Amino acid sequence: MAVKTDRAEKEPMRFTTIKARLDPTPEQAELFEKTFRCCRYIWNRMLSDQERFYLETGAHFIPTPAKYKKEAPFLTEVDNQALTQEYNHLARAFRQFFKDPGTFRHPKYKSKTDRDSFTACNHMFESGPTIYITRDGIRMTKAGIVKAKFPQRPRNGWKLKRITVEKTKTGKYFCYILYEYPARKAEPVSPTPETTLGLKYSGSHFYVSDDGSTADPPKWLKDSQARLVRLQQKLSRMEPGSKNYQETVQKLRQIHEHIANQRRDYIHKESRKLADQWDAVCVREDDLQELAQKITRGSTVDSGFGRFRECLRYKLERQGKQLVTVDRYTPTTRTCSACGAVRENDLLEKTWTCPECGAVHDREVNAAKNIKQEGLARLR
Ligand SMILES: [Zn+2]
Repeated sequence: MAVKTDRAEKEPMRFTTIKARLDPTPEQAELFEKTFRCCRYIWNRMLSDQERFYLETGAHFIPTPAKYKKEAPFLTEVDNQALTQEYNHLARAFRQFFKDPGTFRHPKYKSKTDRDSFTACNHMFESGPTIYITRDGIRMTKAGIVKAKFPQRPRNGWKLKRITVEKTKTGKYFCYILYEYPARKAEPVSPTPETTLGLKYSGSHFYVSDDGSTADPPKWLKDSQARLVRLQQKLSRMEPGSKNYQETVQKLRQIHEHIANQRRDYIHKESRKLADQWDAVCVREDDLQELAQKITRGSTVDSGFGRFRECLRYKLERQGKQLVTVDRYTPTTRTCSACGAVRENDLLEKTWTCPECGAVHDREVNAAKNIKQEGLARLR
């Protein structure tokens, strides 16, 4: 009987993987090969039965691996868990495909040229777990203890969730061991004015900070965005449904995907840098959609500010730090950060001189300074 582990419901969990080189005996290697073959076999059988059933009745149904064991007794020679994982994987592939056929492909048949691998979940029984690591090996169902080299060891409290055994094209065996561990709450950090950063989202840069530094998306991101805008304009002049139109739509999809990847990388790197460097970051609670449209002059390119802010928030929080948001109606661009005088109109000039105290301001740096001051006031 499986033992249920008690755990506080809301404790956040994280996952990490250790990759280990396996050194199986000839018998264990033979068992791995057999498991790879059985996984491919069961996948293809379930897929073909699903297809047949779907054509005949119009309903989606995948038989479980147990159904095939009588006619294919060799299936019982390998770890049943590996077969169950094929079923789960196929079921998930179909769920995704039915939900969003534009993004997810219809599951495909597996051939010998596909990756040799199988996955098995760890189960906790009263007698102990089905999978565990020893000093120089890993214990698996059916295979027993397989010799392994670990580049690192799991820490205290890590729970082994599942393993994936893989054979490379050059004939080496590797094991990916997935661990789950509780995300510890970080000690809260008390920021000071010196360790707090004020950020202003910017049209000409990605952001401007109160110390005058700026961040710009890499040139290639701008290049692909420019290409995207050009293609969108081209498309709007084409005959919908024509061959050219279809080809341009295809190109647009590829560029969209490419830009999304580039931006994700950029956003993660930039937010990581700030979260590591500062104890608190203050931003204005802007209407991000409005802002993005203003910046790209109505084109549908997403600036990524919203995602950037969320990345920054959780990266700070994991270190016990805060992202402080300042009310969007705070007149950050109209207020003099030196004397506090508020101008009546927000003139859009790049630099301006305060009529009260004579301070000369860069419009965006001044706004970032005000955002920081407002944020610090909120922290107190
Ligand atoms: Zn002033």
